[in-house]
Amino acid sequence: MAEPEGACLLSFTKYCAGQKGKLTEVTPARIKTVIESSKDYQDGFAEKLQKKVDADNSFSSHAHRGCVSTYTSITHRNRAKKRASTENPVQPQSSKRSRRSDTPIFDFLKGK
Ligand SMILES: [Zn+2]
Repeated sequence: MAEPEGACLLSFTKYCAGQKGKLTEVTPARIKTVIESSKDYQDGFAEKLQKKVDADNSFSSHAHRGCVSTYTSITHRNRAKKRASTENPVQPQSSKRSRRSDTPIFDFLKGK
């Protein structure tokens, strides 16, 4: 299931939907940052990407600049970590009860 050339590396994120413009190269160094970020999001992408890096140490890809900067932004990563660490719904009753607490990241990425 090779992705078509020219696809955004982060096309699975909700950030990608609104991105316009050219794809820029995601260098091996950037790939590492993306992997580290993915671990914070716990979206399973880190494992996928790590395999590619293991197979080819100089693996690089392409993505929208906006996607990469948003995905790897410390603010977003910290927010994701916070979400992950609040698995137990200690929150007040303001949010819907039907919401599953076991898949917060999936919900986060699905977005719109
Ligand atoms: Zn994108």
